[in-house]
Amino acid sequence: MGNGLIIVNTGNGKGKTTAALGLGLRAVGHGMKVLMLQFIKGARHTGELDAAKRLEPNFKIIQLGQGFIRTHKGEQTESVVENARVSWDYAKQEISSGLYDIVILDEINNMIDYGLINVEDVISVLKERPKRLNVILTGRNAHDRIIELADMVTEMREVKHHYKKGIKAQKGIEF
Ligand code: ATP
Ligand code: MG
Repeated sequence: MGNGLIIVNTGNGKGKTTAALGLGLRAVGHGMKVLMLQFIKGARHTGELDAAKRLEPNFKIIQLGQGFIRTHKGEQTESVVENARVSWDYAKQEISSGLYDIVILDEINNMIDYGLINVEDVISVLKERPKRLNVILTGRNAHDRIIELADMVTEMREVKHHYKKGIKAQKGIEF
């Protein structure tokens, strides 16, 4: 097998996390081991948590985040800062563990954008990762340094979203 790729799913349109899950599903079909770490936990229990359980031990999803982070950039509460530190420490261990073929860092772009995880630290961990490991970074506002390092970057662009028509989050579509 060749070198692992660094893949970024960013932009304001829908599909960043679900595209990463789809790629993970495809890889599990080849017997590959996939880990998704969710840095920002949504308000709802999502279907992918139970779907991944059916694919254990090849597909694992771990929620590290506390919930939606609503505070402004640079104005985080102590517990949010501490949670980010503990979450990133955990992610670093998993990235270097050699146990996975794909590690998905879900919403890490937002964490970097909020100033909760240091971009240079992320860059050095990615550069020193096991050679074959593919890493997917999702979330809005991907940092220029991450985009520069990545092998593939996809920007989801919103053309239309049913939310704007007042249609609330739908089971199987949003969660
Ligand atoms: P998904 O998890 O559905 O792939 P995403 O990862 O691209 O979405 P996030 O930025 O993580 O999107 O947003 C989290 C939630 O907001 C999801 O429920 C998602 O469906 C919804 N969402 C994503 N894009 C938009 C949008 N342009 N307008 C309104 N809601 C959105
Ligand atoms: Mg997402």
